[in-house]
This record gives sequence, structure tokens and C-alpha cells, in this order.
Amino acid sequence: MLYRVEGIVIRSMDYGEGNKIVTILTNTHGKAGIVIRGAKKLKSRHGSLAQLFTHAEFVFFKKSGLGTLNHGEIIESHHVLREQLMMAAYASYAVELVDKALQDDEAGSYVFEQLKACLKALAEEKDPQITIHLFEMKMMEAAGYGPEMDACISCGNTDGEFSLSYRLGGILCRRCSDKDPARLELGEGALKLMRLFRRMDMRRLGNIQVKDATKKELKTGMRQLMDTHMGLTLKSRSFLDQMDRYPI
Ligand SMILES: [Zn+2]
Repeated sequence: MLYRVEGIVIRSMDYGEGNKIVTILTNTHGKAGIVIRGAKKLKSRHGSLAQLFTHAEFVFFKKSGLGTLNHGEIIESHHVLREQLMMAAYASYAVELVDKALQDDEAGSYVFEQLKACLKALAEEKDPQITIHLFEMKMMEAAGYGPEMDACISCGNTDGEFSLSYRLGGILCRRCSDKDPARLELGEGALKLMRLFRRMDMRRLGNIQVKDATKKELKTGMRQLMDTHMGLTLKSRSFLDQMDRYPI
């Protein structure tokens, strides 16, 4: 069967002599694996379609398993995301997260729009840490692990001060704080951002100014939630952490 879909390349690997296999996240058919023949040859028309982050229309033939590319038209090459190490690192993390965190049936058009908006925000040089944490929240939601941020996860209380229980997957009020001895005491700023992220669509992200200390807390909170509920090992994340430790 011949498919014509809009997609974003979330994984690309070499295959045989001069070919590539890419995984694309489509807006209509979840994730799809496609063989792009001759993609590595210098004169290949299809070479740029095999590059990570490329947003294009892909026309491919598929009976079962992997598809074979027939034709493609680039919509947005996102070359700026590949040219700068820092941007490439964040964008690689975003696509690897989609690749590893979501089953095919969880990756619908909403996720496609969120990834598209995430790459656009990075390319427009919006704060990459904020962009990525918001994207992590959207992916946790898509995978069915969106944390409860509006009311105490134990009693439903909406007033007073809260801590974050990453184990229970939400906030705990003071009265219920003994339900999780490992809860995280996050500042008001970090909790507010997480609550905002829970409601916000990637496409609405503007320029937010966030203090470094708050970003640090946000990172701890998001990471504990993701590690507890999704348990992913992402190569791109180790690389990002290294860059955090040794800024360039
Ligand atoms: Zn409570």
C-alpha cells in the first residue's frame, strides 16, 4: 500500500551499502520505519530526508514491517538544530524521548504537533531547558503518566503548601506529607511551573524568564517523575548532563 504522510525523523541509522533506515513520527499513522535507498550517496535526492529532525512529506510503499521511500518533499529541514552542538543535544533528546517513551498507538497527531512545536521553539532559541521540561510533561501525559498537580493526590485538598511525591505521581498537602517520606520539597516557583506545564500546549510556549535555582528544582522534579514512572535510558540525556557539568 502507498502511504502519503507528514512526518518528522526521530531516528536515523545506516543500513547496508549507502542506505538508511529512519523512524518517523507521523501526524496520522503513529510511528513508521522507512528504508531510504541510496540516502548516504552524495548525489542522493533523498539524503536530506534521512536526517534527524527533518520535517517532510513522505510517500512510501509498505506491505508489512518496514516501508520503502518512494518520494519526499521537505517542509522544514531544521538545519539550525544540527549546526549548533547545544541545540542538537536538546533536539536529539526530544526525538529520542518520543522514540523510546511512546508505543505506536500513543503517538497520535497531538504528539506530532507537540514535537513539531518543540523543535520550532528550540530553533527559535526559546529557553531550551524550559522548552524541554514542558515537552517532557507532554510526553509523560501521552504515555499516561501525567502527574496530579492541582490537588493533593491523597486527600484532594487544593489549599496551602505542597510537596511533590514522585512516587505517588502528584502533589501532597502538609496534612498528608507523611504518606511519602521521600517527597521532594520544591519551591513555589518550580511547583507553579509544573502546574502551568500540565495545562499548557507546546504551541503556546512564549518566552518565560526562570531563575536558575527554580530551573534546577524543576529538573529534579521532572526527572524523578520520569525515572519513577517511565524508567527510560536515553543516550542523549547522558550527553546533556555532561554538557551541564562542563558548560561550553
Ligand atoms: Zn492531602
